[in-house]
Amino acid sequence: EKRNPGEPEFHQAVMEVAATIIPFLENNPRYKEMMILERMAEPDRVISFRVCWEDDEGNIRVNRGHRVQMNNAIGPYKGGIRFHPSVNTSVLKFLAFEQTFKNSLTGLPMGAGKGGANFNPKGKSLNEIMRFCQSFMTELYRHIGANIDVPAGDIGVGAREIGYMFGQFKRITNSFEGVLTGKGLEFGGSLVRTEATGYGAVYFLQNMLKAAGKDVEGMTAVVSGSGNVAVHAAEKLMQLGARPVTLSDSQGFIHDPEGFTQEKLNWVKEHKGHRRGRISEYCDAFTGATFHEGARPWSVPCDIAMPCATQNELNEEEAKTLIKNGVKAIAEGANMPTSNEGVERFLDAGVIFGPAKAANAGGVAVSGLEMSQNSARISWGIDQLQEQLRQIMEDIHGRCAHYGKDYGREGMTDYVAGANIAGFAKVADGMLAFGVV
Ligand code: NDP
Repeated sequence: EKRNPGEPEFHQAVMEVAATIIPFLENNPRYKEMMILERMAEPDRVISFRVCWEDDEGNIRVNRGHRVQMNNAIGPYKGGIRFHPSVNTSVLKFLAFEQTFKNSLTGLPMGAGKGGANFNPKGKSLNEIMRFCQSFMTELYRHIGANIDVPAGDIGVGAREIGYMFGQFKRITNSFEGVLTGKGLEFGGSLVRTEATGYGAVYFLQNMLKAAGKDVEGMTAVVSGSGNVAVHAAEKLMQLGARPVTLSDSQGFIHDPEGFTQEKLNWVKEHKGHRRGRISEYCDAFTGATFHEGARPWSVPCDIAMPCATQNELNEEEAKTLIKNGVKAIAEGANMPTSNEGVERFLDAGVIFGPAKAANAGGVAVSGLEMSQNSARISWGIDQLQEQLRQIMEDIHGRCAHYGKDYGREGMTDYVAGANIAGFAKVADGMLAFGVV
């Protein structure tokens, strides 16, 4: 805390990892002697810059942009860009730190980074969003490149924003390269990228349940969020015969006891994704659903819970409520959605728990596949990519289960410890090979 004052989210992320990695370091003293964990907790560099733009009324606006280049031991820096008023150094450092382990777990050659700005896209016109993206890229372009740092989308940054930023990069550098992922299909994007995080999280859940002799079919699922990750998690749950019954946004949650259909989810995609509307309006569009203002969905009884909105959206009390109501498994679609105390309660109660680093790695994995396709100047088909995503999630599950049996809570597969240790080992070995740098 002395070293990083005023960065609570970053402390939270590092403490969670350290608690599970320390027993592993005791058994592998070389990592400890070489201060690998300490080195991993210090970003290679943090870039911070002014983003100046003009709104539709002609007012000059000033925001702050950032890029945290965390670790490039196993590949170019890689991680999303977030536009949200809550963005600050602490949030981006926590996300970039987590990204180190996640990207390593995918088995693909990707280092870790994260970026963004304290810009609120809500209520902005398309022209304002375009001007903001262009101004943001006018500084960012000098720090990134297909072999240097490859950003992607995150909260508030979808295909439209990536398009504006890619256009500006190309215009400034006169270079067409795979410098961003999540691009449109016409200019180097990959099929399956949009769905990959939500679908991948459900595949991971499926693998955990299978290892415990269970199946998602017939289970009731509570999902939070209504953005890219949440709707695709709900969609895959539905396709596999589960019954997802909730979605949420920053104003509250909707509960549809009958469960979502494809038609209902298509409406949410259009309404939240393109029109940036409120989830409460779902109740006007479909009968039988209720809106719960200012609340989160964790009080709704379920077998599966998937937090897919944002960090720290599931606390210890809410974890206890879910356990009391008989929850069997959790898969984190968002990054660090569960507080450390909440995670402890789930593990104490023997609930199957898939941490974000592993469960939501499907998005960055398909981004890695987008980079491969861009390098080779080819595009793979949908079946091939879907199969690769499914296989990658199965492999991540295998890596986590391997370490999660020997470390962490006894008598269960501790996927939290497993993900941290498996992710750590590969990056640590790379760093050891480079000597003292
Ligand atoms: P979107 O912007 O598409 O959606 C975000 C959703 O979360 C919206 O429903 C939003 O509600 C809600 N939300 C955001 N901030 C808050 C808040 N402070 N309190 C309550 N609700 C909030 O983002 P994504 O779906 O892409 O990302 C969701 C999570 O998944 C994030 O943690 C992200 O880092 C993580 N993730 C995303 C990946 C991807 O591929 N997109 C990859 C891996 C992880 P509202 O509309 O009201 O703001």
